[in-house]
Amino acid sequence: MTARILDGAAIARQIREEVRAEALAFVNAGGGKPGLGALLVGDDPASHIYVASKTKACEELGLHHVTERLPVSATTEDVLAVVTRFNEDPAIHGILVQLPLPKQVDAVRVLDAVSPGKDVDGFHPENVGLLSQGRTRFAPCTPAGVMEMLRREGIDPKGRCAVVVGRSDIVGKPMALLLLHAHATVTIAHSRTADLGAVTRTADILVAAAGKPGLLRAEHVRDGAVVVDVGIHRIQTQEEATDLLSPARLAKFDPAKGAVVGDVHWPSVSEVAWALTPVPGGVGPLTIAMLMSNTLRAAKLFARS
Ligand code: NAD
Repeated sequence: MTARILDGAAIARQIREEVRAEALAFVNAGGGKPGLGALLVGDDPASHIYVASKTKACEELGLHHVTERLPVSATTEDVLAVVTRFNEDPAIHGILVQLPLPKQVDAVRVLDAVSPGKDVDGFHPENVGLLSQGRTRFAPCTPAGVMEMLRREGIDPKGRCAVVVGRSDIVGKPMALLLLHAHATVTIAHSRTADLGAVTRTADILVAAAGKPGLLRAEHVRDGAVVVDVGIHRIQTQEEATDLLSPARLAKFDPAKGAVVGDVHWPSVSEVAWALTPVPGGVGPLTIAMLMSNTLRAAKLFARS
């Protein structure tokens, strides 16, 4: 069997188009432009790329955006000062603190300082609490994007067994909560899970968010499962490419450029899954689309407050 490809990039385009139209209607109704304040600390190249794609998305959707950059040597106080400025700026409705922060910066203090009403990443404890109670204000963008994709693909988690591999605060835990609220029977597997395959093979819906390239192989996947790959990794060597890429991608592989893969071993899992998200072009674009959607939501909530 060859899995159906869940085209996250196409769904992300639909969501973005809807946000663009809604944002325009909001502005025309006198609401003012929804605005995103992004904070980028340090020189991590991946973070620079993520922030650039997020601000480009704002541009395309007609959202106001400001990016503040701080050097890698920034202190917690420096970072808090920018967060405070964004909190107080009425033109900024959503605040994005790009992670990871440098080691000397207290990330917990910083994320706790983001005004809960502007916390479009959904990392503030108040928003985590609301999510946990099923009174979601802002769901973290990556798991929210996965849920939106399942909904638009007509895949209803209700009554199904869902397994989330990974228990981070950013992806794994909120993913599990959203699936639970959608009435799935949810299991979370993690690095200390004794027999990963025994757990993942129970999944009708399997979400891979472990941060380990190619971790989940055919033997981890039940025949006919829906597999969502959240992982993002850049591989560089021919050996990794030979193991992890489909024959079509492998034929074009150039070690100088590298390739992006996920936590799912595409060559084997695409033979057993019923549906599978690609990497790139799966969950990544959905994450950005949901950030835009949450920023619009923040502007609307602000207008009503
Ligand atoms: P993380 O490192 O914070 O968490 C990884 C989790 O996986 C941990 O809970 C750990 O227990 C679990 N884990 C690690 N090794 C495991 C193993 N061998 N078996 C089972 N579980 C294991 O990572 P994160 O921030 O949750 O991100 C996960 C992945 O998703 C990364 O590859 C990251 O780059 C990617 N990511 C993608 C997007 C996107 O937009 N697509 C957004 C955020 C993160």
